Amino acid sequence: MPEDLSPRHRQAVVDAAVTELVIANRILAREDVIDDFGHVSIRNPLDPARYFIARSRSPEVVTRDDIMEFDLDGNQLGNDPRRPYAERHIHGAIYRMRPDVNAVTHHHARPVLPFTICAVPLRPAFHMAAVIGKRIDVWDSQDEFGDTNMLVDSLEMGLSLARTLGPNPVVLMRGHGAVCAAGNLKAVVMISIALRDNAALVQASMQLGKVSYLTDGEIERASAMLLGPMPLARAWDYWVARAGYAGL
Ligand code: MN
Repeated sequence: MPEDLSPRHRQAVVDAAVTELVIANRILAREDVIDDFGHVSIRNPLDPARYFIARSRSPEVVTRDDIMEFDLDGNQLGNDPRRPYAERHIHGAIYRMRPDVNAVTHHHARPVLPFTICAVPLRPAFHMAAVIGKRIDVWDSQDEFGDTNMLVDSLEMGLSLARTLGPNPVVLMRGHGAVCAAGNLKAVVMISIALRDNAALVQASMQLGKVSYLTDGEIERASAMLLGPMPLARAWDYWVARAGYAGL
């Protein structure tokens, strides 16, 4: 993003990004990725050391006025007295460790949970799920933190989770949920929906027999294709319409 934008132009860039973030909240709720809990964030497009995320509120009811800004240590910018998400540290930690990531979701999509509990690896089995990546590790808070309330409510825990994410688009959390990360908001929404769909598909397929997964080469090629501008724009239009914002 050029540094020499006029103040008005800078504000317009931030306003557009925040509006898209609000719509992403509604989409992820509509698609049953995020429910009463869970969240989505974006890095500030004008300042990589800051990110936007809603205040502690269910994504289905998030509005523009609910969006807060934080630094990467999870400190709120401004004097907003409203309560932030306890698990916002997931987002700041990933933005710290992954300069390529500009959007993050954290959710507890139910079809994904068995793969956080059982020793069955989750891997893409259909082409639209290639975006979830070749490797999905499971982070277990017990390893470094022992018995906790299971929330990633400190920067230290967020950084531990981000280390297990590594360079991948998805990490699972034992007995808890998942985190998805991507270079832009539309991509992280696609990855989050595909993760849920793929988990349900693999579970259904396992009832019938041995599951055939995509090869590493298929995952690379299909993922590069799906995360291109055309498929993302087309999918975004569809999700926006399903969330009730068609034509906006
Ligand atoms: Mn959670």
